[in-house]
Amino acid sequence: MRPARAVIDLQALRDNYRLAQELTGARALAVIKADAYGHGAVRCANALAEVADGFAVACIEEALELREAGIQAPILLLEGFFEAAELALIVEHNLWCVAHSLWQVEAIEQARLAAPLTVWLKMDSGMHRVGVHPADYAQAYQRLLASGKVAKVVLMSHFSSADELDNPRSSEQVAQFTSTCQGLSAEVSLRNSPAVLGWPQVPSDWVRPGIMLYGASPFEQPHPQAERLQPVMTLESRVISVRELPAGEPVGYGQKFMTDRPMRIGVVAMGYADGYPRHAPTGTPVMVAGKRSRLVGRVSMDMLCIDLTDVPEANLGSPVELWGQNVLASDVASLAQSIPYQLFCNLKRVPRHYTE
Ligand SMILES: *Cc1c(COP(=O)(O)O)cnc(C)c1O
Repeated sequence: MRPARAVIDLQALRDNYRLAQELTGARALAVIKADAYGHGAVRCANALAEVADGFAVACIEEALELREAGIQAPILLLEGFFEAAELALIVEHNLWCVAHSLWQVEAIEQARLAAPLTVWLKMDSGMHRVGVHPADYAQAYQRLLASGKVAKVVLMSHFSSADELDNPRSSEQVAQFTSTCQGLSAEVSLRNSPAVLGWPQVPSDWVRPGIMLYGASPFEQPHPQAERLQPVMTLESRVISVRELPAGEPVGYGQKFMTDRPMRIGVVAMGYADGYPRHAPTGTPVMVAGKRSRLVGRVSMDMLCIDLTDVPEANLGSPVELWGQNVLASDVASLAQSIPYQLFCNLKRVPRHYTE
C-alpha cells in the first residue's frame, strides 16, 4: 500500500486541550469544525469526550455528524443557522447556536420551538466580519431574553489579530466589548487559541481553542506558552525511489531545481493531492531516516523530491516526516506562504491512523 499517512496522537490532543483549560481557568469548547482541522472530528470528539466541556463546529451538518456518532456534550454552531428552518433541528439535537446578525435574532423571535435555545450572541467588536453592531447589541440581548424562546444567552466576540501580540486591536476589541456589555449579566466568551495562549488578562467564562488543540502555534514568533503544545498530526511517507545525479541536472517539473554538485535524490510518495502545499519551496525541511533534510524542486501531485546527499543511510523505504514532532507544520506553512490551519484542513487522500 502507498505509505503516505497521517498519524494522529489523541493523547497529545487531550493534553493540549487541558492546557487551554489550565491557562484560562475557564470552560473550553474544543473547536472541531472542518473535520477537526483535518484530524477527524468524530475521532477527536470521542478522544476528548471525557475531558471536554463542549465542542464547537461551523454548522449544523458538522454537529449532526457528531450527534450521530453518539457525542452528547454541548455543541455550539459558530455560524449559527443559515435559514430559520434549522431551528427545529437545533432544538431537537440539543445544540447551542450563535446569533451573529439581527436577522437571526428576529428568526428566533418568530420561531415556534419545542424547547428554549441556548444562544451565543456575537458582537462585532472590531473584526467587521460577522457580529451584531455594538449599537444594537444590548437591545438584541434584551429581545432574545424577552422572546420566550431562549433559556440562556452567552455574550461573545471574536478577535481579528490576537496572534499579533504587539497589535493594540485586541485590547481595543476587549474595551469595546466590555463597555457594550456593561449591565448585561451573562457569561462571556472571547478567546480563540492565540488569546488563550497570549492574552491572559482577557475575561472569559468560556474559551474557544482551535488550532492549539492540534499542537500548532498560532503565532509567527516563538512564544513560551505555545512551546508547551504537542503536535498532534504527523504527516509521513516513505522514499519510493532513489537516484544519483551529476552536478547541473534538473529535478522535477519545470526544471526548477538544478543539482549544484553530484547529488542523491529521493522521491517520496506525497504530493499536493495529499494536501502537502504545492508552494513549499526548495529548502523546506523534512526528516528522512531520522535526519533533517530538505525538499528540492516542485511538489507534484503524488510525489515530491528530497535531498539525500548528506543522508547516506537513507534509502528505498526510508521513513519521511513531512511535518510532526520534528518538522513543525507552522514552519512548512510559513515557507509555503500559508498557515498551519490551511495545511491541516487541506489534508486529503492520506489515511489517518490514530494512536492513544
Ligand atoms: C474557528 C474559530 C475559533 C477557533 O480559532 P483558533 O484560532 O483555531 O483557535 C474560535 N472562535 C470562532 C468564532 C471561530 O470561528
